Parts: sequence; structure tokens; C-alpha cells
Amino acid sequence: MRFVFLLAITLCAQTPPKGIHPQVKEIVDGVSEERVSAIMKRLGEFPSRNTNFEEGNKASREWIAAQLKSFSPRLEVQFDAHKVTKQGRIVRDLDVVNVVATLAGTTQKDQEIIVCAHYDSLNIIREKDATPGSGDNTDWVATAEAIPSPGVSDNASGVALVLELARLMSKHEWPKTLVFIAFSGEEQGLFGSRGFSKAAKEAKRNLAGVFNSDIIGNDYSGDGRHVSDLVNVYSGDPMDSPSRALARYVREMAERYYPAMKASPVFRNDRFGRGGDHTAFHDLGYPAIRFTTPVEHYGFQHSAGDTFEHSSPSYAAKVVRVNAAAVSSLALAPMAPQVMRTNSGGNVTSPNLARGKGYDAALKWTASTGDIAGYSITVRSSTAPFWEREVYVGNVTEYTMQNLSIDDIVIGVRSIGTNGVESPVSAYVLVPRNFNTPAAP
Ligand SMILES: [Zn+2]
Repeated sequence: MRFVFLLAITLCAQTPPKGIHPQVKEIVDGVSEERVSAIMKRLGEFPSRNTNFEEGNKASREWIAAQLKSFSPRLEVQFDAHKVTKQGRIVRDLDVVNVVATLAGTTQKDQEIIVCAHYDSLNIIREKDATPGSGDNTDWVATAEAIPSPGVSDNASGVALVLELARLMSKHEWPKTLVFIAFSGEEQGLFGSRGFSKAAKEAKRNLAGVFNSDIIGNDYSGDGRHVSDLVNVYSGDPMDSPSRALARYVREMAERYYPAMKASPVFRNDRFGRGGDHTAFHDLGYPAIRFTTPVEHYGFQHSAGDTFEHSSPSYAAKVVRVNAAAVSSLALAPMAPQVMRTNSGGNVTSPNLARGKGYDAALKWTASTGDIAGYSITVRSSTAPFWEREVYVGNVTEYTMQNLSIDDIVIGVRSIGTNGVESPVSAYVLVPRNFNTPAAP
């Protein structure tokens, strides 16, 4: 009798374990510090990868493309060129060329994950009569020719991450499509990523997540601060934007698969007055985040001093493991549900709010494609940064929590696959999916 009772409990509870998926763990454990280090060193040996220094930029991207091709015949490697006319920091008409490697997905092929970093480098030469601190006094013509321009932390380190994940992940099949990109023209104003993201939006591509790594190669700053167990994860507003949902997901997966390293969300799009390639995607409503060391070294950055000797490949490798956990999990996860308003219940005072009979929280969402075990509902206070409670509700697409007012909490829904892997949370918020935040300067 007791046995039967226990069995019934087990069947009813049916909460999928928040366990370790072996394929994710294999990628995380497979990250090689030696390989990350070798890529950072090699890229730093090109005289310059500056976008305006076309010969060096071309040589470096051909090297990157050759690496990607060597990993797997299943990686489709292409150059993605965008014509840019002379303007601002671009000293003549030229092609900004990205390297794009695509690993086609299996069952959710139209859902794409982008893992990216810019490969162009910068060694700023100031105008001869410039007063220090007088705004942008860069001599962009002289800067174009400046040698050496090693750019190891900014951003050979990010490219090393992209290549290492491409190498490891191309050994497996994934439900979602993975796109590994080395962007150019970042230092002149995000030209490569703007060109790519605009084309993606026009083609109505579904990007489930954009992981941009930029300056992840050093763990001490000019004032002597040393941080080797934390990486900043930037995400743009508002509080429940798709980008922020992705940042929360990264934090969760890093804790699960690589607790040695803290993925620390920063709730702003980027550092003050500065930008990165994820911005091009976030501005178009795509979930896009940036990884950056919390201890940038301003003395070396954008100078001949950003060398391999001044970098920390062991730190970069840890950031690769954090990305490995989140990217692999997302690649195996079912699609996130879309939370809709509910038509059930009476006192609906606001068209976008989910109300049951006025005093209940009634949620309704679209069924996700993929092998779904079920869904869980997440709840937090409106002032809390992270989800505080998660309740597994089974394989349903509606759920009502009685006597719970939605006006002072935030509610979300996530899907959980039969493989035990979870999607990011879709929050139930007033603003619909497409967030158009102002462009960063
Ligand atoms: Zn950079």
C-alpha cells in the first residue's frame, strides 16, 4: 500500500530534474586553455588587424577562416562583406568583411544562436598637437597604419572563444543552428555587426541568442585590481528585455556547469559611452549580451601594449567555459514559450494583462516546438533582479494561481525539454517582444 502511494507521488510530481546534460558538460570540460592561448598569441602576431589596414585585416581573417574550416566539414565557412564609404573613422571606401561559420541545426534549424567577437584591432595614434583629455583627438589616418596593433585582450581573446566553441561544438549535432562569427569594423563603429544584423532582420531570421565576447583576455587592471573568477555580462534595458532574459539564463547555466566562475550580470547595455557588436542586435529586438572582464586595463587597451604578455589566457579560457555552458544549453533547449494575454475570467481592465477572475494570476502561453516535458512558471518581486521561485506545472499551456495579484510581481514561463534542458524564461510584461531601445553612442 505504501509502495503504491509513493509511486503515485512520483508519477504526479514528474518535475524534470535540473540536472547536468552530458553533452553540455562535455563541451564545458573540453575547453582547452592551451588552444585558447595559442589563438590569442597567433592573432597578436599579425602586424595589425585594423579594419583600415586592409592587408593585415585580410591576412588575419583568412587565418580565422582556415581554422574554422579545419574543425569540421559540417561547418560552412563564408566571408560576409559590407561596402562602407569613407566616413568618420573609416579613412577610405572599403569592404568590411566578417567571417561566418554555420553549423546547421537538426530539429529547430530555423532557430539560430550567434557566438561572436570582433577580430579587428586598434592602436590609437593621437593628433600631434592634441591636448590630452580633449575628446576624440585620434588621428585616424595615422592610426590606420599604426604597427604593431596586437589587440590581444581586445579582442583576439574573444575570437579565441568563438574558435574554441566552434571546434568543440562542431563535433556534435544540435537542435538549433549555431553561427560563429568574427566581425570586423567594430572599432570604427560596429560596421560589420550592423551590416550582418540588418540583413538578418530583413530576412526575418530567428535569433534565439547573441553571445558577444569583447575584452575577455586579461584579469588585472591598471590600478592593480585582480579579478580572475568573475566575468561581467551586459544586457540592455528594459528589465525584462529578451537580452536580460538571456543574461539571467547565462548566470543560471554558469552556476550549474562551471561554478568556479561567476557570470555577473550588469543591468545596462554596455560600459558608459562605449559600445560593442551585441548592440547592433539588441537595437533590433534580438536577445544579445556582452561578456567583458571587470578589470579592463586602460593603459594597454587600444595601444601597442595590448600584447600576449599582458594577457591572461587562463582567464579567457574560464570565460569560454561559461559561454560553453550557456550556448550548449540553449542549443539543446526547446524553444521558449510566448506568453499571451488570457481571455478567461472577467475583470480585464488592461488589454495586455493576464487576469483570471480579477483576483487571480491566469497565464496562457504558446506550446513550444521540440520535445517538451512541460513548463515551469517563475515568479519574482518587481524589484528583484533574478527569479525567486519556480514551479513546475506540467505539460499544459494555461495555469492560474489563485488570489495572486499580477500587479506587484513579475511572472514568466519557461519550457523544459524531455532531455531535461530548459529554455530561457519568457516574462509576462506590458511591452511586446520587439524592444527598440536607443542606439548606444
Ligand atoms: Zn573591442
